[in-house]
Amino acid sequence: MSAAPQLSIVIPVYNEELNLPVLFTRLYPVLDGLGRSYEILFTNDGSADRSIELLRARHAARPDVTRVIDFNANYGQHMAIMAAFERVRGDVIVTLDADLQNPPEEIPKLLAKIDAGHDYVGGFRLERQDSFFRTYASRLINLVREKTTSIEMTDQGCMLRAYRRPIIEAIVRSGAINTFIPALAYSFSGNPAEVGVKHEERHAGVSNYSFARLVRLNFDLITGFSIAPLQIFTLFALACAAGSFVLVLILAGRRIFIGPEEGGLFTLFGILFFLISVTMVGIGLIGEYVGRAYQVVRARQRYHVREILEAKP
Ligand code: UDP
Ligand code: MG
Repeated sequence: MSAAPQLSIVIPVYNEELNLPVLFTRLYPVLDGLGRSYEILFTNDGSADRSIELLRARHAARPDVTRVIDFNANYGQHMAIMAAFERVRGDVIVTLDADLQNPPEEIPKLLAKIDAGHDYVGGFRLERQDSFFRTYASRLINLVREKTTSIEMTDQGCMLRAYRRPIIEAIVRSGAINTFIPALAYSFSGNPAEVGVKHEERHAGVSNYSFARLVRLNFDLITGFSIAPLQIFTLFALACAAGSFVLVLILAGRRIFIGPEEGGLFTLFGILFFLISVTMVGIGLIGEYVGRAYQVVRARQRYHVREILEAKP
Protein backbone atom coordinates (compact mmCIF):
# COMPACT_ATOMS: atom_id res chain seq x y z
CA MET A 1 0.00 0.00 0.00
CA SER A 2 1.44 3.36 -0.93
CA ALA A 3 1.68 5.91 1.87
CA ALA A 4 -0.79 8.30 0.30
CA PRO A 5 -3.44 6.96 -2.03
CA GLN A 6 -5.39 9.49 -4.05
CA LEU A 7 -8.74 8.33 -2.80
CA SER A 8 -10.08 7.09 0.54
CA ILE A 9 -13.50 5.45 0.73
CA VAL A 10 -15.11 5.43 4.19
CA ILE A 11 -17.87 2.96 5.00
CA PRO A 12 -19.55 2.41 8.39
CA VAL A 13 -20.78 -1.13 8.91
CA TYR A 14 -23.35 -2.23 11.44
CA ASN A 15 -24.93 -5.66 11.02
CA GLU A 16 -24.53 -5.70 7.26
CA GLU A 17 -23.59 -9.35 6.68
CA LEU A 18 -26.27 -9.68 4.00
CA ASN A 19 -25.12 -6.56 2.16
CA LEU A 20 -21.33 -6.77 2.37
CA PRO A 21 -20.81 -9.50 -0.27
CA VAL A 22 -22.79 -7.53 -2.85
CA LEU A 23 -21.13 -4.29 -1.79
CA PHE A 24 -17.71 -5.86 -2.33
CA THR A 25 -18.57 -7.16 -5.79
CA ARG A 26 -19.95 -3.80 -6.89
CA LEU A 27 -17.57 -1.40 -5.15
CA TYR A 28 -14.13 -2.79 -5.95
CA PRO A 29 -14.60 -2.94 -9.75
CA VAL A 30 -15.79 0.67 -9.77
CA LEU A 31 -12.71 1.79 -7.86
CA ASP A 32 -10.33 -0.40 -9.84
CA GLY A 33 -11.72 1.21 -12.98
CA LEU A 34 -11.04 4.77 -11.84
CA GLY A 35 -7.36 4.65 -12.57
CA ARG A 36 -6.53 6.22 -9.22
CA SER A 37 -4.82 4.74 -6.21
CA TYR A 38 -7.31 4.17 -3.44
CA GLU A 39 -7.96 2.66 -0.03
CA ILE A 40 -11.22 1.58 1.57
CA LEU A 41 -11.74 2.01 5.30
CA PHE A 42 -14.52 -0.07 6.80
CA THR A 43 -15.46 0.62 10.40
CA ASN A 44 -17.20 -2.29 12.05
CA ASP A 45 -19.47 -0.50 14.50
CA GLY A 46 -19.92 -3.32 17.00
CA SER A 47 -21.92 -5.53 14.66
CA ALA A 48 -23.58 -8.51 16.31
CA ASP A 49 -23.65 -10.56 13.10
CA ARG A 50 -20.87 -11.95 10.91
CA SER A 51 -19.89 -8.56 9.43
CA ILE A 52 -16.46 -8.58 11.02
CA GLU A 53 -15.64 -12.04 9.66
CA LEU A 54 -16.60 -10.89 6.17
CA LEU A 55 -14.46 -7.77 6.57
CA ARG A 56 -11.54 -9.86 7.78
CA ALA A 57 -11.84 -12.12 4.76
CA ARG A 58 -12.00 -9.09 2.49
CA HIS A 59 -8.90 -7.64 4.09
CA ALA A 60 -7.12 -10.94 3.54
CA ALA A 61 -8.22 -10.94 -0.10
CA ARG A 62 -7.32 -7.31 -0.88
CA PRO A 63 -4.82 -6.21 1.80
CA ASP A 64 -3.42 -3.62 -0.62
CA VAL A 65 -6.52 -1.45 -0.50
CA THR A 66 -8.63 -2.66 2.44
CA ARG A 67 -8.39 -1.34 5.97
CA VAL A 68 -10.72 -2.39 8.75
CA ILE A 69 -11.31 -0.54 12.03
CA ASP A 70 -13.04 -2.72 14.58
CA PHE A 71 -14.96 -1.03 17.41
CA ASN A 72 -15.56 -2.93 20.62
CA ALA A 73 -19.19 -1.78 20.73
CA ASN A 74 -21.83 0.14 18.79
CA TYR A 75 -21.08 3.87 18.83
CA GLY A 76 -23.25 4.95 15.91
CA GLN A 77 -22.77 5.68 12.24
CA HIS A 78 -21.18 9.09 12.76
CA MET A 79 -18.58 7.87 15.25
CA ALA A 80 -17.73 5.05 12.85
CA ILE A 81 -17.12 7.63 10.13
CA MET A 82 -15.11 9.88 12.46
CA ALA A 83 -12.81 7.01 13.42
CA ALA A 84 -12.10 6.44 9.74
CA PHE A 85 -11.64 10.18 9.11
CA GLU A 86 -8.97 10.24 11.79
CA ARG A 87 -7.04 7.62 9.86
CA VAL A 88 -7.62 8.32 6.16
CA ARG A 89 -4.58 8.80 3.97
CA GLY A 90 -6.16 9.92 0.70
CA ASP A 91 -6.39 13.43 -0.77
CA VAL A 92 -10.05 12.96 -1.55
CA ILE A 93 -12.39 11.19 0.85
CA VAL A 94 -15.73 9.66 -0.10
CA THR A 95 -18.31 8.43 2.41
CA LEU A 96 -20.90 5.81 1.54
CA ASP A 97 -23.41 3.52 3.25
CA ALA A 98 -22.81 -0.20 3.39
CA ASP A 99 -26.38 -1.19 2.56
CA LEU A 100 -26.10 -0.22 -1.11
CA GLN A 101 -28.62 2.59 -0.80
CA ASN A 102 -25.80 4.73 -2.22
CA PRO A 103 -24.82 2.95 -5.45
CA PRO A 104 -21.01 2.72 -5.68
CA GLU A 105 -21.39 3.34 -9.42
CA GLU A 106 -22.20 6.98 -8.58
CA ILE A 107 -18.78 7.69 -7.05
CA PRO A 108 -17.26 8.94 -10.35
CA LYS A 109 -19.93 11.66 -10.51
CA LEU A 110 -18.74 13.06 -7.18
CA LEU A 111 -15.11 12.83 -8.20
CA ALA A 112 -15.81 14.76 -11.39
CA LYS A 113 -17.09 17.68 -9.29
CA ILE A 114 -14.08 17.46 -6.98
CA ASP A 115 -11.80 17.53 -10.02
CA ALA A 116 -13.67 20.62 -11.19
CA GLY A 117 -12.32 22.40 -8.13
CA HIS A 118 -14.92 21.95 -5.42
CA ASP A 119 -13.70 21.01 -1.96
CA TYR A 120 -16.97 19.43 -0.87
CA VAL A 121 -19.51 17.61 -2.97
CA GLY A 122 -22.75 16.54 -1.38
CA GLY A 123 -24.96 13.98 -3.04
CA PHE A 124 -28.69 14.40 -3.03
CA ARG A 125 -30.97 11.48 -3.63
CA LEU A 126 -32.78 11.82 -6.94
CA GLU A 127 -35.59 9.41 -6.22
CA ARG A 128 -35.61 8.54 -2.63
CA GLN A 129 -36.31 4.89 -1.88
CA ASP A 130 -37.35 5.11 1.72
CA SER A 131 -40.64 4.79 3.52
CA PHE A 132 -43.21 7.51 3.02
CA PHE A 133 -42.80 8.53 6.63
CA ARG A 134 -39.00 8.78 6.46
CA THR A 135 -39.12 10.83 3.28
CA TYR A 136 -41.60 13.37 4.60
CA ALA A 137 -40.13 13.55 8.09
CA SER A 138 -36.79 14.43 6.58
CA ARG A 139 -38.32 17.05 4.26
CA LEU A 140 -39.75 18.70 7.34
CA ILE A 141 -36.48 18.62 9.22
CA ASN A 142 -34.69 19.96 6.15
CA LEU A 143 -37.02 22.93 6.29
CA VAL A 144 -36.37 23.52 10.00
CA ARG A 145 -32.63 23.35 9.42
CA GLU A 146 -32.91 25.81 6.56
CA LYS A 147 -34.70 28.32 8.78
CA THR A 148 -32.53 27.97 11.87
CA THR A 149 -29.03 27.54 10.46
CA SER A 150 -27.14 28.98 7.52
CA ILE A 151 -26.47 25.57 6.06
CA GLU A 152 -27.67 25.20 2.48
CA MET A 153 -28.12 21.60 1.56
CA THR A 154 -30.66 19.83 -0.60
CA ASP A 155 -30.48 16.55 1.24
CA GLN A 156 -28.74 16.40 4.59
CA GLY A 157 -29.43 12.70 5.02
CA CYS A 158 -27.54 11.46 1.99
CA MET A 159 -24.19 10.03 3.04
CA LEU A 160 -22.77 9.68 -0.46
CA ARG A 161 -20.40 12.64 -0.32
CA ALA A 162 -16.87 13.58 -1.30
CA TYR A 163 -14.49 15.87 0.55
CA ARG A 164 -11.04 17.24 -0.02
CA ARG A 165 -8.60 16.36 2.69
CA PRO A 166 -8.40 19.79 4.43
CA ILE A 167 -12.15 19.58 5.16
CA ILE A 168 -11.72 16.20 6.80
CA GLU A 169 -8.75 17.48 8.80
CA ALA A 170 -10.85 20.42 9.98
CA ILE A 171 -13.62 18.05 11.06
CA VAL A 172 -11.19 15.88 12.97
CA ARG A 173 -9.50 18.89 14.61
CA SER A 174 -12.78 20.43 15.63
CA GLY A 175 -13.37 17.37 17.80
CA ALA A 176 -16.95 18.50 17.68
CA ILE A 177 -19.32 16.75 19.96
CA ASN A 178 -21.89 17.37 17.33
CA THR A 179 -21.31 14.70 14.82
CA PHE A 180 -23.58 15.66 12.01
CA ILE A 181 -20.80 15.25 9.50
CA PRO A 182 -22.42 16.62 6.29
CA ALA A 183 -23.38 19.86 8.04
CA LEU A 184 -20.04 20.16 9.80
CA ALA A 185 -18.21 19.69 6.51
CA TYR A 186 -20.41 22.30 4.88
CA SER A 187 -19.44 24.83 7.53
CA PHE A 188 -15.74 24.32 6.74
CA SER A 189 -16.12 24.29 2.98
CA GLY A 190 -15.17 27.25 0.80
CA ASN A 191 -16.56 25.96 -2.44
CA PRO A 192 -19.30 23.37 -1.97
CA ALA A 193 -21.25 21.73 -4.76
CA GLU A 194 -24.06 19.25 -5.00
CA VAL A 195 -24.81 16.49 -7.42
CA GLY A 196 -27.85 14.25 -7.85
CA VAL A 197 -27.18 10.58 -7.17
CA LYS A 198 -29.30 7.48 -7.51
CA HIS A 199 -30.79 5.98 -4.41
CA GLU A 200 -31.67 2.33 -4.11
CA GLU A 201 -33.71 0.42 -1.66
CA ARG A 202 -31.76 -1.15 1.12
CA HIS A 203 -30.33 -4.29 -0.43
CA ALA A 204 -31.17 -6.44 2.60
CA GLY A 205 -32.16 -6.01 6.22
CA VAL A 206 -33.91 -3.02 7.76
CA SER A 207 -32.75 0.50 8.61
CA ASN A 208 -30.81 0.83 11.85
CA TYR A 209 -32.59 4.07 12.63
CA SER A 210 -35.62 3.87 14.82
CA PHE A 211 -37.93 6.85 15.10
CA ALA A 212 -36.43 7.80 18.47
CA ARG A 213 -32.91 7.68 17.08
CA LEU A 214 -33.86 9.93 14.18
CA VAL A 215 -35.45 12.47 16.49
CA ARG A 216 -32.29 12.58 18.58
CA LEU A 217 -30.08 12.94 15.55
CA ASN A 218 -32.08 15.85 14.17
CA PHE A 219 -32.29 17.56 17.54
CA ASP A 220 -28.52 17.29 17.61
CA LEU A 221 -28.36 18.92 14.19
CA ILE A 222 -30.44 21.94 15.16
CA THR A 223 -28.91 22.61 18.56
CA GLY A 224 -25.40 21.81 17.37
CA PHE A 225 -25.28 24.44 14.69
CA SER A 226 -27.25 27.34 16.05
CA ILE A 227 -28.51 28.81 19.25
CA ALA A 228 -31.62 30.05 17.45
CA PRO A 229 -33.93 27.67 19.38
CA LEU A 230 -32.67 29.15 22.62
CA GLN A 231 -33.20 32.69 21.37
CA ILE A 232 -36.64 32.01 19.95
CA PHE A 233 -37.57 30.43 23.24
CA THR A 234 -36.30 33.40 25.21
CA LEU A 235 -38.36 35.76 23.06
CA PHE A 236 -41.41 33.59 23.53
CA ALA A 237 -40.82 33.43 27.28
CA LEU A 238 -40.50 37.22 27.41
CA ALA A 239 -43.78 37.64 25.55
CA CYS A 240 -45.45 35.22 27.98
CA ALA A 241 -44.01 37.04 30.96
CA ALA A 242 -45.26 40.38 29.63
CA GLY A 243 -48.71 38.89 28.97
CA SER A 244 -49.02 37.41 32.42
CA PHE A 245 -47.84 40.66 34.00
CA VAL A 246 -50.70 42.50 32.27
CA LEU A 247 -53.06 39.75 33.40
CA VAL A 248 -51.96 40.14 37.00
CA LEU A 249 -52.59 43.89 36.80
CA ILE A 250 -56.09 43.34 35.40
CA LEU A 251 -56.87 40.72 38.07
CA ALA A 252 -55.58 42.99 40.83
CA GLY A 253 -57.69 45.85 39.46
CA ARG A 254 -60.80 43.67 39.42
CA ARG A 255 -60.09 42.49 42.96
CA ILE A 256 -59.88 46.07 44.25
CA PHE A 257 -62.72 47.70 42.31
CA ILE A 258 -65.18 44.84 41.74
CA GLY A 259 -64.33 42.55 44.64
CA PRO A 260 -63.17 38.92 44.91
CA GLU A 261 -64.56 36.35 42.48
CA GLU A 262 -64.18 32.58 42.36
CA GLY A 263 -65.23 32.03 38.80
CA GLY A 264 -61.81 32.92 37.42
CA LEU A 265 -60.06 30.22 39.38
CA PHE A 266 -59.94 27.68 36.59
CA THR A 267 -58.81 30.20 34.03
CA LEU A 268 -55.99 30.99 36.38
CA PHE A 269 -55.11 27.32 36.65
CA GLY A 270 -55.08 27.06 32.91
CA ILE A 271 -52.72 29.97 32.62
CA LEU A 272 -50.54 28.54 35.37
CA PHE A 273 -50.25 25.17 33.70
CA PHE A 274 -49.40 26.85 30.44
CA LEU A 275 -46.64 28.88 32.04
CA ILE A 276 -45.24 25.85 33.83
CA SER A 277 -45.08 23.94 30.58
CA VAL A 278 -43.31 26.82 28.91
CA THR A 279 -40.78 26.80 31.75
CA MET A 280 -40.25 23.09 31.37
CA VAL A 281 -39.55 23.38 27.67
CA GLY A 282 -37.05 26.12 28.43
CA ILE A 283 -35.28 24.06 31.04
CA GLY A 284 -35.07 21.19 28.59
CA LEU A 285 -33.56 23.39 25.94
CA ILE A 286 -31.03 24.86 28.31
CA GLY A 287 -30.24 21.35 29.44
CA GLU A 288 -29.43 20.45 25.85
CA TYR A 289 -26.80 23.16 25.63
CA VAL A 290 -25.44 22.49 29.10
CA GLY A 291 -25.20 18.81 28.21
CA ARG A 292 -23.28 19.72 25.10
CA ALA A 293 -20.83 21.85 27.08
CA TYR A 294 -20.52 19.05 29.60
CA GLN A 295 -19.59 16.55 26.95
CA VAL A 296 -16.93 18.84 25.55
CA VAL A 297 -15.51 19.61 28.97
CA ARG A 298 -15.48 15.97 29.93
CA ALA A 299 -13.68 15.14 26.69
CA ARG A 300 -14.14 11.45 27.15
CA GLN A 301 -12.92 9.08 24.51
CA ARG A 302 -15.85 8.83 22.15
CA TYR A 303 -15.24 5.34 20.89
CA HIS A 304 -12.90 2.47 21.48
CA VAL A 305 -11.05 0.67 18.72
CA ARG A 306 -10.46 -2.98 19.44
CA GLU A 307 -8.32 -3.73 16.44
CA ILE A 308 -7.18 -2.28 13.14
CA LEU A 309 -6.49 -4.52 10.16
CA GLU A 310 -4.20 -2.85 7.67
CA ALA A 311 -1.04 -3.43 5.73
CA LYS A 312 1.88 -1.35 6.93
CA PRO A 313 2.25 1.69 4.70
N1 UDP B 1 -24.53 2.25 10.75
C1 UDP B 1 -23.49 2.19 11.68
N2 UDP B 1 -23.79 2.22 13.02
C2 UDP B 1 -25.07 2.33 13.47
C3 UDP B 1 -26.12 2.43 12.51
C4 UDP B 1 -25.81 2.39 11.17
O1 UDP B 1 -22.33 2.09 11.32
O2 UDP B 1 -25.27 2.35 14.67
C5 UDP B 1 -24.22 2.21 9.30
C6 UDP B 1 -24.96 1.15 8.52
O3 UDP B 1 -24.28 -0.09 8.50
C7 UDP B 1 -25.03 1.76 7.13
C8 UDP B 1 -25.14 3.25 7.43
O4 UDP B 1 -24.62 3.44 8.75
O5 UDP B 1 -23.84 1.54 6.41
C9 UDP B 1 -26.56 3.77 7.33
O6 UDP B 1 -27.39 3.04 8.19
P1 UDP B 1 -28.89 2.65 7.81
O7 UDP B 1 -28.95 2.08 6.43
O8 UDP B 1 -29.43 1.80 8.90
O9 UDP B 1 -29.60 4.06 7.87
P2 UDP B 1 -30.63 4.70 6.81
O10 UDP B 1 -30.13 4.37 5.43
O11 UDP B 1 -31.94 4.09 7.11
O12 UDP B 1 -30.56 6.17 7.11
MG1 MG C 1 -29.64 2.72 4.63
